[in-house]
Amino acid sequence: MIYKENPTSPDFANAPCSGQSPLFDDHLRGETAADRAARLSVATRLCHDCPCRQPCDALRRTQHHPTGVWAGRIYLDRRRH
Ligand code: SF4
Repeated sequence: MIYKENPTSPDFANAPCSGQSPLFDDHLRGETAADRAARLSVATRLCHDCPCRQPCDALRRTQHHPTGVWAGRIYLDRRRH
């Protein structure tokens, strides 16, 4: 999700989530719980070999209420789930 927060940063241009923000979002309208779990599983797997994982997690810690996938972990918006 770091790319979504920093779309112009060259540091994160090669992150696997670049251009994949729907895949990394915590919620998609009309999605079933099973479909969400499968989608987020794909997203977290993409994070595993990401060269931006550390800065991604550092940026996540600066967010007030991070949502979606950050550094291989899922953060759900508690108002929705
Ligand atoms: S660790 Fe995951 S969410 Fe963070 S930049 Fe990499 S691919 Fe994106």
